Amino acid sequence: MGKAIGILGGGQLGRMTAAAAAKLGVKTVVYCKSEEECGTFIAWKKIIADYDNEKALLEFASLVDVITCEWESVDKRTLEFLERLGRKPVNPSSLVFATAQDRLLEKRAAQAVGMETAKFWAFQTPQELHDAGFFVGFPAIMKTRFGGYDGKGQRRVKSVEEARRAWEELGHVPCILEAFVNFKHEASIMVYRNSRGKTGCFPMVVNTHENGILRQTLFHQEAFGGAPFWTKHEQGPKRLAEQLKLVGLTCVELFFTQDEKFIFNEMAPRPHNSYHWTIEGCNVSQFEQLVRILADLPLVEPYSPFRSVTMTNLLGHEADKSVPALLSLPKVSVTLYDKPHRDPKPGEPPRKRGHWVAVEPYHRH
Ligand code: AMP
Repeated sequence: MGKAIGILGGGQLGRMTAAAAAKLGVKTVVYCKSEEECGTFIAWKKIIADYDNEKALLEFASLVDVITCEWESVDKRTLEFLERLGRKPVNPSSLVFATAQDRLLEKRAAQAVGMETAKFWAFQTPQELHDAGFFVGFPAIMKTRFGGYDGKGQRRVKSVEEARRAWEELGHVPCILEAFVNFKHEASIMVYRNSRGKTGCFPMVVNTHENGILRQTLFHQEAFGGAPFWTKHEQGPKRLAEQLKLVGLTCVELFFTQDEKFIFNEMAPRPHNSYHWTIEGCNVSQFEQLVRILADLPLVEPYSPFRSVTMTNLLGHEADKSVPALLSLPKVSVTLYDKPHRDPKPGEPPRKRGHWVAVEPYHRH
């Protein structure tokens, strides 16, 4: 085949994309800031440079056939620079990343394709904050419009007074105030689209968070009424992918409410932690589907032959301590990212250093 994919970012998502590419004989070039980033260890080539280094970006573009990005908060100027070069397609585009990076834009994009969101109001002045409290009501969640992830840049507030204090703590940056959703479950759905407009979804999953980060994902054939019902909920994410002219993957995070409705929370235009289970649990993994899209290879519709699959993250020291025991279980598959342990800063969650997947077949022997 001889194609090469350029990956901006050196984390585990790029690493697993590089592994999926290698499986299909597609080469990868990882561009990131440090030799120590785990995505570089298994790539064909690496470029170590800052994301504003024009010379290095030019070299990167000359080595590959297509460029993608494995982390959400990439500076969109880097993507725009590569797009302006016009030499190699950048997928997903800077427009898709810019939409996902702004909580206001992403919610508007979801609403525009008919997906329901929690009530929200954007503000950047004290008067607008007051209006936000009036229109959204309390309790509510204040979120910075830009740069927030894994619960960072967020405050729960119960009154206008608390909202004022929270905004001060957040540094008076542009924010949204969002109604508190009393959800039954958190869910996600992975949508994909190729350059020919072929769109589809991976099966929906249920997510459990701990201290603001994903702990466990459950895929179950019967979840949310099973496949016939998922089809209905795939329509919004598919329309979103079409609207944004997505080429690649986007994970849509949802709340499943007490009255059994799905509400859009946010989107991430890259492989997602809640779909790592597809490596062992589906006919095609999220990483392989991305590689197929980028290398313009045929796509297959994803399905899982298992009754259920769970994926559990290995956080901090768990990646050292639990692995020998996990490796001795026959139906468990362990993936390690080769990231050293680092003590988290106060208030920060432990590092994601790997995950394990357990599959439950239909018939136990
Ligand atoms: P986010 O960064 O938007 O994914 O939010 C991080 C986590 O905060 C989510 O996974 C939820 O557990 C919680 N959360 C965010 N928004 C809301 C909301 N409107 N209502 C209730 N919980 C929320």
